[in-house]
Amino acid sequence: MSPYDVSWPHDRPEPPREGLTDGFGRRIAYLRVSVTDRCDLRCVYCMPERMRFLPRAEVLSIDELDRLCGVFIGLGTRKLRLTGGEPLVRKGFMDLVERLSCHLKSGALDELTLTTNGTHLAEHAADLAQLGVKRVNVSLDTLDPGTFHRLTRTGDIGPVLEGLEAARAAGLKVKLNTVALARDNRAEIPDLMKFAHARGFDFVLIETMPMGEIDEDRTDQFLSLREVRADLAAAWTLTPLSDSTLGPARYSWVEETGGRIGFITPLSHTFCDTCNRVRLTCTGTLHTCLGRDDATDLRSILRSTDDEAPLREAIRAAIAMKPLAHDFQIGAGQAPAVARHMSTTGG
Ligand code: SAM
Ligand code: SF4
Repeated sequence: MSPYDVSWPHDRPEPPREGLTDGFGRRIAYLRVSVTDRCDLRCVYCMPERMRFLPRAEVLSIDELDRLCGVFIGLGTRKLRLTGGEPLVRKGFMDLVERLSCHLKSGALDELTLTTNGTHLAEHAADLAQLGVKRVNVSLDTLDPGTFHRLTRTGDIGPVLEGLEAARAAGLKVKLNTVALARDNRAEIPDLMKFAHARGFDFVLIETMPMGEIDEDRTDQFLSLREVRADLAAAWTLTPLSDSTLGPARYSWVEETGGRIGFITPLSHTFCDTCNRVRLTCTGTLHTCLGRDDATDLRSILRSTDDEAPLREAIRAAIAMKPLAHDFQIGAGQAPAVARHMSTTGG
């Protein structure tokens, strides 16, 4: 008996487990799933103020998300990150986490995580930990309530700070993600780093990516992390870490705060060579590269048959064609490299 038979949660037979490898020999074992395109915030770099959200019929149900994730796990996905939009505003989200946690118990999945803006984390942190979630990424670009409100166009920072405390109290490992913005948070970056490290959180900076039309030009908010790193290195002792298991971020250890700082520079190609991830939108579209428009519609297959073989075939075919590298460029007046917003694909 396979070890996965023990608690395979569905009443159909477990699909054969196999690995997924792309045309460049990269093993694809990491799936990011956007469970909704909706969000309770409207971050200025992410979406326009009057964002048009998808009609509900286009969005996969919790059952469909569970089924599709199960197919990926059957094909060798070992790590699954739930994201959005804001995953914690999706109705039935905790039910999905509970169902997917069966794969953690069976050993089919190594890790189940989520990326959240933290506004509803306080209500759910303990349950997430209890279901086997060990780490969460929380996005926070400022500690100043006024700047937070302006950057999110609607938000109140209070619940996010409570959510971070709740995550800590529940024993979740937290990575604080901050998008580096030339105008709005450049001067605050050292404070955000100290805030994160004082609580035992990793701190990760991200460059803005040209994804989807927003209400303003991203160019004047673009802040090169090369410059940020140089600024920080003038005041703090940064020792580069070589751990390659940490994903696309390049990490350094900060001597004075005793914490890790990561830099994600998507506009360079530094992480494409070892990219092991693909992304599924809440409409069941598979994107094999964050920075390209390639797309495979899995929803129509999912909704047309109970047989999982055609889904597996479509996933394998898409992954075989995964591009070698993204096509991001950012320049004044330039159209976004990909038309979809980050909230559609998930961060
Ligand atoms: N709502 C959740 C959150 O904010 O964490 C999850 C989805 S959000 C799209 C995931 C991450 O993408 C966040 O850290 C956010 O700051 C980042 N993000 C959104 N749009 C971006 C852009 N155009 N460039 C770089 N990062 C972006
Ligand atoms: Fe919502 Fe996250 Fe986009 Fe902000 S970055 S608008 S929180 S999806």
